[in-house]
Amino acid sequence: MASALRPSHLPEMDLQCPTNLGDVFRHISNGAQLLAGGTDILLQASVRGEPNKLVWTGGIESMKEFDADSDFIKVGASVPLSTMIKSNAFRDGAPAVADGAQSVGSLQLRNQATMVGNVCTASPAADTVPGLLIHNCVVATIDKENNKREIALKDFLTGPGKTNLGEGELVTCLSFSRLGKNQMSAYQRFTQREALDLAFASVAARLEFEEDGQTLMTVNLALGAVGPTAIDASAAADILKGHPISEGRLDICADAASQLCSPISDHRASAGYRRQLIRALVGDVVRQAATRYGNKK
Ligand SMILES: Cc1cc2nc3c(=O)[nH]c(=O)nc-3n(C[C@H](O)[C@H](O)[C@H](O)COP(=O)(O)OP(=O)(O)OC[C@H]3O[C@@H](n4cnc5c(N)ncnc54)[C@H](O)[C@@H]3O)c2cc1C
Repeated sequence: MASALRPSHLPEMDLQCPTNLGDVFRHISNGAQLLAGGTDILLQASVRGEPNKLVWTGGIESMKEFDADSDFIKVGASVPLSTMIKSNAFRDGAPAVADGAQSVGSLQLRNQATMVGNVCTASPAADTVPGLLIHNCVVATIDKENNKREIALKDFLTGPGKTNLGEGELVTCLSFSRLGKNQMSAYQRFTQREALDLAFASVAARLEFEEDGQTLMTVNLALGAVGPTAIDASAAADILKGHPISEGRLDICADAASQLCSPISDHRASAGYRRQLIRALVGDVVRQAATRYGNKK
């Protein structure tokens, strides 16, 4: 099916809506760019006047798959964030990822926007990425020769707006681990406004407790919007391991995490302010995950 889209601020567009992957690749070869929910790419088109050839992946059955009940939660490239957020199994299995999904835009936006689109835009401030990192996300791809790859998210994102997707290769789905026994996770961001604003800084944490439910065994930390890509800051949390959570150790951890980031100054926040936000958010997120864990027991 072909049609022309043209609200006044958009360039004239050729939109293709195939129902099989072969046709998707054919349109990509003809210069079309992938469209999932369109919340990033249509904004880009309205500002830059391109792309004006798009191929929508929402007609491909396999990309609508969403399985939140297995050990690895799997989400296809066309699943809207709101579909995921409605799932108890998703929210219980990967709370930090669900927190991130819930932070994106507004309800109307989340009805359209996908997690794969959030990842592929590769914004340093993407809200789902820090949670996905600490939940060991793997990105599954395919190309027109049917070659498939599985890439750890930390290797998939290579810079602002950059991924290691090859020419003509597309993402089919994301897989990420459910919480294990004695584990909990959380994500928080700081923005000027509650909704429809990008993070100035964000932190995701995943905690694993010893059987006593108090002593931390492992802590994974990821920082968003304070570097070219989200940062794995788990090394900063070594001070927390083998001890119950204490304010003194949290301060040392937060300080170490703030040293691992490389924020920029822009019209939204200075680099120094972003570092201070990381210091504050690390403590807040670890405490939130611990409280959630306590409530779950
Ligand atoms: C008003 C507004 C508020 C927003 N607020 C937030 C926010 O708070 N937090 C946040 O993180 N983001 C926010 N965003 C950005 C955006 O909504 C998200 O990044 C969203 O998840 C993108 O998903 P999508 O499905 O709409 O992607 P699309 O716009 O369809 O695609 C995004 C990119 O991914 C590529 N792509 C799509 N599918 C595939 C595929 N299968 N394989 C490879 N590449 C693919 C596209 O070609 C494009 O480059 C906001 C955007 C707007 C307009």
